[in-house]
Amino acid sequence: MATKDLMPCPFCGKHVASLQYDVDAYPDAETLGWYVDCDNETADGCGAIGPTARTQEEAIAAWNTRATATQFKG
Ligand SMILES: [Zn+2]
Repeated sequence: MATKDLMPCPFCGKHVASLQYDVDAYPDAETLGWYVDCDNETADGCGAIGPTARTQEEAIAAWNTRATATQFKG
């Protein structure tokens, strides 16, 4: 999974964000697809997630705007 184009996480500043695809994370079928998250499962991220997009490129672009990223609070 290419993550070289991803900016560091806007919340924790770490460079562990990765692209994910999850059809279950968002019940709305119109918005399912790719998103970026700050990996807190296999890396030392904070769990912040970016907006969902239909393509990897859109998900990366959305993440890189930083302002629209939201922090997941489990
Ligand atoms: Zn983070």
